[in-house]
Amino acid sequence: MKMISEAKTLSGLCETLNELGSDEVVNQGYDGSDFPTFGGIEPQDTEDVWSYDAKRIMVLDEDGSYGIKYRCLCCGQAPFHCLRQP
Ligand SMILES: [Zn+2]
Repeated sequence: MKMISEAKTLSGLCETLNELGSDEVVNQGYDGSDFPTFGGIEPQDTEDVWSYDAKRIMVLDEDGSYGIKYRCLCCGQAPFHCLRQP
């Protein structure tokens, strides 16, 4: 059984969460708002951002699995929270 607390990278965390499924995530004591993060600035707007590292963020895809997206290159925020978008 993989442990969320032992994830060492953002992609490792993402893989672990997808393998465990939501029930086991709860069993390991996480409610989704408190996953480990892996460096880099905390996004100003963390809505729909489940974890992050210096270059990437973790999102929850529509199919219920976690995925990784690159931060916006211009501002470092989640691409869907870009500070320069109108
Ligand atoms: Zn931006």
